[in-house]
Amino acid sequence: MATIITDEQLAEFRLKLRERRTDCMREIRHKLRGTEHERYIDLVGSAHDVADESVADLLADLGILEIDRMVREVNDIEAALLRIAHRTYGVCIDCGDGIAYPRLAAYPTVKRCQPCQMRYERTHAGVGQASM
Ligand SMILES: [Zn+2]
Repeated sequence: MATIITDEQLAEFRLKLRERRTDCMREIRHKLRGTEHERYIDLVGSAHDVADESVADLLADLGILEIDRMVREVNDIEAALLRIAHRTYGVCIDCGDGIAYPRLAAYPTVKRCQPCQMRYERTHAGVGQASM
């Protein structure tokens, strides 16, 4: 259960993630504006528990995959911010080891250390998001 990043770095990631979330939200709203999907704007980024999955599914069903991808990114960011709040950020969800700082810096929403990510991708080939 070794977190190998400092409080200062944690604060840095929090800021970075929040900025990225703001950018994503702005982009999502921009893309939805003026479309028939405008009514979904309020759904996006509201409650981030159960609702998120269904919003993402809905957008995928509507064929707005680019927006869907961004909604998923926002979900990942929300999850990362939650891990920061719970002091579990930077800890691999599979093995519990600390994730190296350079890896986090490159992929701030990353949930696994490199060996676990590679193992995960081997067993879930072609499923879910692009590899990190
Ligand atoms: Zn791991």
